[in-house]
Amino acid sequence: MFIEQPPWLFRALYPQAIFRMDPNERAVYLTFDDGPIPEVTPWVLEILEKHHIKATFFMVGDNIRKHPDEYRMVVEHGHRIGNHTFNHIRGFEYSNPDYLANARKVDDMIHSDLFRPPHGHMGFRQYYTLRYHYRIIMWDLVTRDYSKRMSPEQVLNNVKRYARNGSIITFHDSLKSWNNGNLQYALPRAIEFLKEEGYEFKVL
Ligand SMILES: [Zn+2]
Repeated sequence: MFIEQPPWLFRALYPQAIFRMDPNERAVYLTFDDGPIPEVTPWVLEILEKHHIKATFFMVGDNIRKHPDEYRMVVEHGHRIGNHTFNHIRGFEYSNPDYLANARKVDDMIHSDLFRPPHGHMGFRQYYTLRYHYRIIMWDLVTRDYSKRMSPEQVLNNVKRYARNGSIITFHDSLKSWNNGNLQYALPRAIEFLKEEGYEFKVL
């Protein structure tokens, strides 16, 4: 199910979740999941700043708690923040009220109406509850930068191959993406590529 571009069946599971923005617009939406962390997030901010790009960061509440300075840096750079639950939990492993409570805990920290479920997992009841509280943002293209099985070149190629009008593109400001070298290689090159292809960068 979790290939670079979610199949229509997966998209159909969550009909009101957003996978892709306007297909008639030459624009892409960069998103970064799982931060903020001091080892990676400031580097991402620097790259985005250099290219005058604003992006959306889906943050884990517990990381905000541990790294308030990095959280503030993201806000001060003018990026959007979204909710990625407090403990990066899998929907299927939690009851409906517990899952929602874990997400709501982040609301007190970031005040955002954007939510992205960790691992793309939400039970149906969770989904139906969450959509009353949030705009649920999935993705049109996941770079798989976090994967050990992907080389940096493959991560970049995922962007080259699957980016299209309105794509919501997912990277990770996480140690997984950093320690395998994928993010450092692919993010700057992906941005160059998308610019050359004439895409504008927008926030959700
Ligand atoms: Zn995540």
